[in-house]
Amino acid sequence: MISPRLCPVCEKPLGPEVTSESGCFPFCSRRCQQIDLLRWSQGKYAIVEPLSPDQVMEQLDKEGGKELEGWEE
Ligand SMILES: [Zn+2]
Repeated sequence: MISPRLCPVCEKPLGPEVTSESGCFPFCSRRCQQIDLLRWSQGKYAIVEPLSPDQVMEQLDKEGGKELEGWEE
């Protein structure tokens, strides 16, 4: 017997419509996906000095660049 997957945000069982192709996996919805992203980024930035929006954009640019380099290799 396979136990149902639970959404890591709201802990509701994921419906059969939630698959890796649905875009929000492993969350039950786009909303939970965004909540998790927000929590993650807040936790990350909470341990360093508060960043201005410009600094956040700069940080995202750096991280995006790293990821792109990784994909090209
Ligand atoms: Zn959820």
